[in-house]
Amino acid sequence: AAGAIGSSVIPIVNKLQDIFAQLGSSSTIDLPQVAVVGSQSSGKSSVLEALVGRDFLPRGSDICTRRPLVLQLVQCPRRQEAVEGMDEWGEFLHLPGKRFYDFSEIRREIQAETDREAGGNKGVSDKQIRLKIFSPNVLNITLVDLPGITKVPVGDQPSDIEARIRTMILSYIKHKTCIILAVSPANADLANSDALQMARLADPDGSRTIGVITKLDIMDRGTDARNFLLGNVIPLRLGYVGVVNRSQQDINFNRSIKDALAFEENFFRNQPVYHGLSHCCGIPQLAKKLNQILVQHIKVVLPALKSRINTQLVAVAKEHAAYGDVAESKAGQGVKLLNILTKYCEAFSSVLEGKNEELSTA
Ligand code: GDP
Ligand code: MG
Repeated sequence: AAGAIGSSVIPIVNKLQDIFAQLGSSSTIDLPQVAVVGSQSSGKSSVLEALVGRDFLPRGSDICTRRPLVLQLVQCPRRQEAVEGMDEWGEFLHLPGKRFYDFSEIRREIQAETDREAGGNKGVSDKQIRLKIFSPNVLNITLVDLPGITKVPVGDQPSDIEARIRTMILSYIKHKTCIILAVSPANADLANSDALQMARLADPDGSRTIGVITKLDIMDRGTDARNFLLGNVIPLRLGYVGVVNRSQQDINFNRSIKDALAFEENFFRNQPVYHGLSHCCGIPQLAKKLNQILVQHIKVVLPALKSRINTQLVAVAKEHAAYGDVAESKAGQGVKLLNILTKYCEAFSSVLEGKNEELSTA
């Protein structure tokens, strides 16, 4: 049921985000987003890709993610007559109107657009790449893939690369509306996790941090992640989900996501140590948890969001009045956009209020 509720609420949020992006103020309004944080190569991009269910993000053992990628998933109805592969596509904000049906082309465009801004030699930039994925198979959420924390500058990176990346990550996860996926590899000690350290900085009481433990398949023999997952090592209010993503070899051999999910399911089935922990094992569980948290979260932040939009509306209306009858002035356009926003907010509240009972049992 959680999926159905999410899909009725989140299109409105996505629409709001679109309008704010057009207003050039996406960073001033706190809307729910999901961001991944962690050290380089912890598996952040792999986790996001698995959640989306398509291959399109640059992944690898080197630094791949070098600009923030804001990824808006848009659930669109399945079309009966759709040709195989034609009901899912991507669109970049920097290439309006161009539909990418070939997801490896999306990956190439992310790489090319990364190089355009951050250069070809491992440079990092905080300028966003914005991508929408339209598909019948996704949850309607906005995900942010961020560069990982690195300690030693390589290539064109400045000497303060670690501080810069931390600042960039914080600028996303500090927002009270940001849900943090703190990604830590199972083959390292959780007490050394950059992800959990950063998440704790931004979200000290852990009310919006989900721990994701990757690489359960390559732990040292004789060890397992049971205690991590149960929160016995570092407790986390919203808990942990353990996952198995594709290895570098799987990537090199083009192993499909479908195969990878089947492999993951099989992995958990064949490891007695994870039996009884099915609620916190696997990508499908992570997706479920996310959707539930997102809906709860929206419910909590909505009143503040609404009053902020109202305040902006009043301010712009005043400005508009001061301009007199210059109808098509900037202020005039601002008023129009904010009027649309207010309508969306009202629609948003009524959707939430109408679903109150279902929400509380979600
Ligand atoms: P990011 O830098 O945090 O975005 O990490 P990536 O998603 O690019 O993954 C880094 C490397 O780790 C890639 O070679 C992945 O194939 C590998 N990897 C990620 N997750 C797992 C996992 O669960 N198991 C295994 N065996 N390899 C993984
Ligand atoms: Mg990455």
